[in-house]
Amino acid sequence: MAKERTIVSPVPFPETKPFWEAAAQGKLLLRHCTACGETYFYPRMICPFCFSDKTEWREAAGTGTIYSLSVTRRAEVPYAIAYVTLAEGPTMMTNIVDCDLDAIAIGQKVKLVFKPSEDGQAVPMFTPA
Ligand SMILES: [Zn+2]
Repeated sequence: MAKERTIVSPVPFPETKPFWEAAAQGKLLLRHCTACGETYFYPRMICPFCFSDKTEWREAAGTGTIYSLSVTRRAEVPYAIAYVTLAEGPTMMTNIVDCDLDAIAIGQKVKLVFKPSEDGQAVPMFTPA
């Protein structure tokens, strides 16, 4: 089996604690603004579009498309960092994992997976759908 890359543990802040708790249960949460209707990532209490505080958590479907991609091969364990545009609209920076790094491309459909960080926190990542 290929060596797994060490994933640095995220530091949960009060604002993102529910996000990481949901991740531990295999769910990706997004923040939705009920004032303007936008859904956004990274999660924060104040809507970045209209500055309303009328925001709530919504579970993402876990599907998306690779918007941009950067493969780092000169590392102990090569890895791919990508911006993935989620089905709900927001784009998130993430890793593309469990695949041939030479076979992934911009525009490719991906789906959500979770990988444990150093301290066991599940971190949302994506793999080809
Ligand atoms: Zn808003």
